[in-house]
Amino acid sequence: MRMGGMTTELNRVAGLSALAAGGVWDLVIIGGGATGLGTALDAAARGYRTLLLEGHDFAKGTSSRATKLVHGGVRYLAQGNLHLVRHALHERGRLLANAPQVTRRQGFVVPCYRWWDMAFYGAGLFAYDLLAGRLGLGRSRLLSRAEVMRRLPTVKTDGLVGGIHYYDGQFDDSRLAITIAASAADHGATLLNYVRVTGLLKQDGRIAGVTARDMETGTDYSIQAKSVVNAAGIFMDEIRHMDRPDLAEGLSLSQGIHLVLDAGFLASDDAILIPKTADGRVLFVLPWLGRTVIGTTDTPIDSASLEPHAQESEIAFLLDHAAHYLTRAPSRSDVLSVFTGIRPLVKVKGASGTSAVPRDHVLMVSDSGLVTITGGKWTTYREMAEQTVDAAARVGDLSPVPCPTAGLHLHGWVPYRDPTDPLAAYGADAPAVRAVLAEQPGWDTPLHPNLPYVRGEAAYAARHLMARTVEDVLSRRTRSLLLDAMAAAEAAPVVAAILGAELGRDDIWIEREVASFRALASASVV
Ligand SMILES: Cc1cc2nc3c(=O)[nH]c(=O)nc-3n(C[C@H](O)[C@H](O)[C@H](O)COP(=O)(O)OP(=O)(O)OC[C@H]3O[C@@H](n4cnc5c(N)ncnc54)[C@H](O)[C@@H]3O)c2cc1C
Repeated sequence: MRMGGMTTELNRVAGLSALAAGGVWDLVIIGGGATGLGTALDAAARGYRTLLLEGHDFAKGTSSRATKLVHGGVRYLAQGNLHLVRHALHERGRLLANAPQVTRRQGFVVPCYRWWDMAFYGAGLFAYDLLAGRLGLGRSRLLSRAEVMRRLPTVKTDGLVGGIHYYDGQFDDSRLAITIAASAADHGATLLNYVRVTGLLKQDGRIAGVTARDMETGTDYSIQAKSVVNAAGIFMDEIRHMDRPDLAEGLSLSQGIHLVLDAGFLASDDAILIPKTADGRVLFVLPWLGRTVIGTTDTPIDSASLEPHAQESEIAFLLDHAAHYLTRAPSRSDVLSVFTGIRPLVKVKGASGTSAVPRDHVLMVSDSGLVTITGGKWTTYREMAEQTVDAAARVGDLSPVPCPTAGLHLHGWVPYRDPTDPLAAYGADAPAVRAVLAEQPGWDTPLHPNLPYVRGEAAYAARHLMARTVEDVLSRRTRSLLLDAMAAAEAAPVVAAILGAELGRDDIWIEREVASFRALASASVV
């Protein structure tokens, strides 16, 4: 077991050998998003023999496409769902304490254009503070009109009467995913990306494992397990149908998009929350990694996809509303990138969303023992994992072990995150990253003048963070694609060359990688 502060051991070759060696796993987890990775960490930290299989890359699905807030859900307050908010606020506090390298406290301002709103949202946010209790991030307070204008120099001031300042958390979602993966590996879990589950094994009507395919080589595996967890997110029905083909669809889907703009559109360290736009939606304008992010939408869609596309109406909605609240109205040509994520909305009857503790996730155990976990949010991934491993341990008849993750520091934990250090997200691994950057001339130079990353990070990602493709490096190990899609496209050849050398690929692979990443980048501008 290797703990935080040492180089990450996410090693695909070793993982594939463990698969080939066979044996019975205590838990096999399907899906490497927030939910599956959290479950792998929880299970491994309890000492269970744990395998996680992700069909594409870790966090390729919804988990790299969030609004990046670690939050209690201010909007649930308005619905009076205090239990849910309190739980999420406690998880918010734990996450910021356990992973300071990829999370931080974020100030928000709610600008108010009616006195009534000041009273209403002010009362709500004071309740938010109370519910957070000792895990609170700082007190909310009322702001005068002048204070709002000082904090938000680009907000529209016509009719502005004042505002409320409050705190929530912010994070880098796919970097947190990789950090959780590394933590699970530290505790002995085997995690593999690009290994897709193709079927379930059954014995006497009970789930006894999975079949899976290495998507790089086409090699098939038959894997035995005492319990199997379905954490496939928006694809959960595909896995449930492998268990019982006759089951009704359990999910409806809704997508949300975000537009990424230059930092100048917000020009503040504070974020803006508009709790209710003219058409009744929540709108965020956020500072994130040196950019301004505007989101989100809520658009019903018909089918699940790993690469969903923003609809014209969604782009227009965000641009129109941004123009309504910001002095400098963004136009399409200002959009550096757009990213889209899909929410799974659970409609399964009899799911245990009704237990004593209200929650917005659903945990189900099928007659044959398939454990399915879905819904919830990034912020509550740890609590969801705890409940999932409890259920899987019962199904698999594993000896009970209490959950140890509430105060567990994640891989690379550091007592203090230096916001000026460009390698801060690596936490205690930053010196190891610096050592790689010093290996080759040019590896410490920027990937692109408009991106806050350097070339050698691609080599580090290939060696230690299981990056297999240009997209893995530019979209999820670094956030280049989200920060500036065209700059990322221009950086693709450099990244492909470094990855090609690290992974032993030929020129044809390099060319193909560049072409396929450039196609993705073109689809990420509007
Ligand atoms: C627009 C939007 C904004 C959001 N903003 C926030 C926010 O600000 N804060 C917050 O706390 N939460 C937020 N959320 C919610 C949060 O992002 C999700 O709850 C979370 O990411 C879900 O993670 P997951 O692991 O369940 O699903 P996913 O991340 O989708 O992971 C499922 C994984 O399963 C894999 N998979 C599927 N089939 C197979 C198979 N056969 N074999 C192997 N692997 C398979 C997929 O490739 C995928 O990687 C947001 C969600 C959306 C849509």
